[in-house]
Amino acid sequence: MEIAPESETSKDTISRNEVTPFVASQLQKIIDRTYSKFKDVDEGTVATYIPELGKANPKDFGICLATVDGQVFTAGDWDREFTIQSMCKPFAFQMALERHGTEEALRHVGVEPSGEAFNSIELDQKSGRPFNPMVNAGALAVASLIKQSPVEAGIEAFVEQMSRAAGRQLRIDESVLASETATGNRNRAIAYMLLNAGIIDEGVLQSLHQYFAQCSMLVNCKDLAMMAATMGNIGNHPLTGDTVFDFQLIKYVMAVMFSCGLYDYAGNWAFEVGLPAKSGVSGGIFAVVNRQLGIGVYSPRLDAQGNSVRGILACKELASRFGLHAFDFSNVGSSFMQWVL
Ligand code: GLN
Repeated sequence: MEIAPESETSKDTISRNEVTPFVASQLQKIIDRTYSKFKDVDEGTVATYIPELGKANPKDFGICLATVDGQVFTAGDWDREFTIQSMCKPFAFQMALERHGTEEALRHVGVEPSGEAFNSIELDQKSGRPFNPMVNAGALAVASLIKQSPVEAGIEAFVEQMSRAAGRQLRIDESVLASETATGNRNRAIAYMLLNAGIIDEGVLQSLHQYFAQCSMLVNCKDLAMMAATMGNIGNHPLTGDTVFDFQLIKYVMAVMFSCGLYDYAGNWAFEVGLPAKSGVSGGIFAVVNRQLGIGVYSPRLDAQGNSVRGILACKELASRFGLHAFDFSNVGSSFMQWVL
């Protein structure tokens, strides 16, 4: 995103007639206002089906926005750590595409929205594969593809690539990992269904461990925003310049995030917010504005679909204030024609 000099304008919202770049102080002001507007919303409940997640403070609420040129704007509890949970899924899918190629990866998982809950125990009847990599069945198929022997090596490789995307060393929360391992019978049921269908190999326990460990990696809002900005910055970290992701494959990951990232709320999300994004049951959501910025939000109170209530409200607000919707007239995105003309 281009940021104009401070003196250029004093508007704090985008004009529909005149698309003026935002100045940094306006960006910060809008983020502060978004935080204040929703900080007292107390709808939704903290997830407890993984007992350790129930310890989250329902009051926590953080926002971070990171631009592809390395500017960072924050509000509230942006540095509070929480486990990445399902937000690991797009990154794991990216890794599977990088390791195995698109054709092989798609033999194990589809790219079709399921319209079902994230933990639904089912396959796409037409293709015999999990619907997509954003639901647990697809994520377990992906975990099976990126696991290594010994299993700790695959987990380390994941944490390593995620750390490069965040720009700092990340780590697994061992108590959340133990908590999910102890209670994850539904995911075990999904994994054995996948084995039975020939989608994953015999290393079922290793695939489950890879997946549980990925979900248990700790991040904060800034990490999520930087990881998202790295995706949006054609795979290069905005500050370190490290090439973290193969840019030729990011479009596939973002397409799946766009259509499937918020589970059975995905259609409404695409309509209202219009950004590739991913939510997790810890209460985080991250969104990518291609070639412009990344957003990370956190608030552990969830709605019935398992998405963060204040997270959705904040993303809607930011998308509408900044004109971030993929099809908003003011979003220049990565338009090829604009570049050639
Ligand atoms: N680890 C969680 C699970 O598999 C992730 C789910 C989520 O964030 N939606 O149940």
